[in-house]
Amino acid sequence: MGHLVEGKNIVIMGVASERSIAWGITSSLHKAGANLIFTYRQERSYKKLTKLLEKHDIEAQLVVSCDVASDESITSAFNTIKDEIGTIHGVVHSVAFANRDELQGEYADTSRDGFLLAQEISAYSLVAVTKAAKELMTEGGSIVTQTYLGAERVIQNYNVMGVAKASLEASVRYLAEDMGKYGIRVNAVSAGPIRTLSAKGVSGFNEKMGVIEEKAPLRKNVDQDQVGDATLFFMSELSRGITGEVLHVDSGYHIIG
Ligand code: NDP
Repeated sequence: MGHLVEGKNIVIMGVASERSIAWGITSSLHKAGANLIFTYRQERSYKKLTKLLEKHDIEAQLVVSCDVASDESITSAFNTIKDEIGTIHGVVHSVAFANRDELQGEYADTSRDGFLLAQEISAYSLVAVTKAAKELMTEGGSIVTQTYLGAERVIQNYNVMGVAKASLEASVRYLAEDMGKYGIRVNAVSAGPIRTLSAKGVSGFNEKMGVIEEKAPLRKNVDQDQVGDATLFFMSELSRGITGEVLHVDSGYHIIG
């Protein structure tokens, strides 16, 4: 991957463990020469992240707390990044949340609060983060979020999160239009199922992975590194003509009827 993002300052949001998709992305971006800035929500994630960085000999430029449920927290995180780093060139948005009990059974049972929570953390957060990041992207930039096929089709148990991902993907398109004039691109990677802490919350997750092995053109599941490399592509100049796109990194599963 050489020096695809050499010297670029990129903010990564959403490392909670070694299995996090954001950690696969960290690995790809680090190998390609990026300067990395991290945000975390829970103290537990901060500790995990610090240990991981140490273990893999990766030096973070900065690690700041950011709870996307709060406008103040987002403003404060990006203000700190502005003060400490200055210009940034990329943001990796890899955060989502829904109540576990709404990731099973019927979507029709979704509560008002549960619906709003999933939308707020998993979709609106991209809007708020894009607005804050834009101020620091004085040389243009790239914003990449993580979505899933449940946005496009009914996937059993994905329910309220599928609807939040549909909203996220539509936001990618509207934000791409807004940000284009500032030289900022906004895209999404739609990954196949990967075993992470969040994935544990979705009922019947193991079966979903089994279906990919059986039916996807490539007959195997994807991993964090594949998503990392696709995200690297979006962060690099190789994708300079692409915005508002949802790129499937799913062994081709989405083309199968
Ligand atoms: P992880 O659990 O590893 O990561 C989820 C991250 O979201 C955590 O770091 C968590 O931080 C963060 N988060 C949750 N709520 C907030 C909040 N209010 N403010 C800031 N951060 C928050 O799971 P994944 O790596 O699987 O998830 C990353 C993204 O990838 C999500 O958008 C997910 O929907 C998407 N995705 C996952 C797939 C999969 O199969 N795993 C497939 C396709 C897409 P903390 O723990 O500190 O709260």
